[in-house]
Amino acid sequence: MGRSGDLPRGLVERYKAGPDGWPDDAGCPVLHVDMDAFYASVEIRERPELVDRPVVVGGVGPRGVVSSANYLARGFGVRSAMPTSHARRLCPQAVYLPPTFALYQEVSAAVQALFREITPLVEPLSLDEAFLDVSGALRRLRSTPAGIGAEIRRRVRAEQGLVCSVGVGPTKFVAKLASGLAKPDGMLVVPRGEITAFLHPLPVSALWGVGKRTAERLADVGLERVADVAAAPLPRLRRLLGTAMAEHLHALALGHDNRAVVPDTAEKSIGAEETFEVDHFDRDLLRRELLRLAERTAATLRDRGLRGRTVSIKVRFADFTTISRSKTLPVATDVTQEIYRTAAQLLTEQTPPGAVRLIGVRVEQLGTGGAEQLLIDAPAQGWREADQAADKARTRFGAAAIRPAALLGERPGRVGRTEPRPER
Ligand SMILES: [Mg+2]
Repeated sequence: MGRSGDLPRGLVERYKAGPDGWPDDAGCPVLHVDMDAFYASVEIRERPELVDRPVVVGGVGPRGVVSSANYLARGFGVRSAMPTSHARRLCPQAVYLPPTFALYQEVSAAVQALFREITPLVEPLSLDEAFLDVSGALRRLRSTPAGIGAEIRRRVRAEQGLVCSVGVGPTKFVAKLASGLAKPDGMLVVPRGEITAFLHPLPVSALWGVGKRTAERLADVGLERVADVAAAPLPRLRRLLGTAMAEHLHALALGHDNRAVVPDTAEKSIGAEETFEVDHFDRDLLRRELLRLAERTAATLRDRGLRGRTVSIKVRFADFTTISRSKTLPVATDVTQEIYRTAAQLLTEQTPPGAVRLIGVRVEQLGTGGAEQLLIDAPAQGWREADQAADKARTRFGAAAIRPAALLGERPGRVGRTEPRPER
């Protein structure tokens, strides 16, 4: 929801600073900070000669997907998640660059360190966005939420040479929508007393959890705006969407969102995925790829001292239909072989045949392990020791030193190392 088109005129204007300053931010402790066109902006910062050119970051191979485009490129219709080949047709004169994740991670860490100087209550959502709860920082900084938002924008520009947009609001949901509507290079403050006035004119797609299909189902019965969902009788929504979804959307449409800003904490999931140069039917080859991805995922988990209980795989077929299958283990793991065995089982038993263009492995329900260590059975313990030895060797000699035996065979062709989450 980063588009401000299709909105009543003045909706966004009334939440900007006016002649009397910002709207009332007294009950607005939540900030959502979102870097504008993050990957593209970082690349341009590194290459000032690109500043006046359309710039697209993404997979540059035949199967590449756009992960970031600056606003000049967006003017030609280029969007995140669009195939790069399509972007090239829309904007052949743009500069196309492959992503350099190490650099984005470095910049992201610096920006988050800046946030943590303001408040310890920083909840990163990805490399380029985070929630901050500033309620405890107001007195120390002798500022207001809007003042802090403006200061963050100033410092990110001064210290990182990058532009971000900020939403200031009473809840996470409102703050996130506000930053999206503030883009590019803007800030909105939505007063606590205006939550529903802000939400109700928005399209239902603004509601967290409403994808294309749910939006269509709602539109079929004439529910197109958030106000329509708020006014709809709950039993009717339940029949339409099922109980859980109905109650979730109805509460959001009424402005209810009690989610706290949960600081720091590790990622909610860790995984890896690959897009192939050509489609692959061969299950043996796909299993070998799962082993490679499991190895990478498990190494990241161990690196961060995390384990997870749910292993999932994602499979995207040649026609772009995408499925995910998951299985929850009795005990959290960071062991390559356990993750691989579970992923391979999900592929063998729960994935229909077909030509595959992308495959991924992910581990969720993360924790730091601790007492669960005691429950690990002996065979897994043996695998863990093997993994730890491999980690050590990898640290000393580089990743190429250690490869599971099954990976020594034929390698499937691939585009880039990962397919990043599309950004706004
Ligand atoms: Mg962003």
